[in-house]
Amino acid sequence: MLAIIITMKLENEDELDNFIICHKCYTLNEEFPIQDGSHACCPECGNILYRYDSKLITHALALSITGLIFFILANLFPLVQMDILGNEQFITIPKTIFSLLDSGFYIVGLLCAFLVFIFPLMIFVINIVLFTLLTIKRGERLTKELLILLSYVTPWSMADIFFISILVAIVKLVAFGEIHIGIAFWALMAFVVIDVYITKSIKLSEIWMLRKKILLDGDKQ
Ligand SMILES: [Zn+2]
Repeated sequence: MLAIIITMKLENEDELDNFIICHKCYTLNEEFPIQDGSHACCPECGNILYRYDSKLITHALALSITGLIFFILANLFPLVQMDILGNEQFITIPKTIFSLLDSGFYIVGLLCAFLVFIFPLMIFVINIVLFTLLTIKRGERLTKELLILLSYVTPWSMADIFFISILVAIVKLVAFGEIHIGIAFWALMAFVVIDVYITKSIKLSEIWMLRKKILLDGDKQ
């Protein structure tokens, strides 16, 4: 409600960029420049509104590259190797998706392909391009489009849920035969940890703010 009132008073939409909404109590606060390494709190509820950490971009870039390497490893090698009644089989992520499609489960196969392969891969590639551009202080328009795309894709990445479902499957299959955990399992676990860490610790609003400081305000960190 407050946001609507203030929006009406604003002459143009760009002025809204100077305001930030508290996600806890929904109070609209004006954004002030803060010192590097500090954070601003909501005057109503004390919730952290935004932080400014110039090293965030470098850390995020390093994490994204590491995550992508683990993702590639997770897809190249077997997740688990099963020996059930003398029948040895190994499972990889691409093999799981293709098996679903080959068996006629097209919707499940496509969903699986998008949720555990295409979207997670997209997020890490977008992150790498985005953080590289911000590091070299280039791409004002492209970074904006990448951030918008990221906000659409991020909720659909479900590599963590896929990992938990593999864990459940392993626990169930142990009763039927011998299970050997492959290198891709550990790579996927490392990828999920990095993915969750990036999603939880680096908020999109913070990247927007850093983008504004780096590219638009000409802050040379
Ligand atoms: Zn608040």
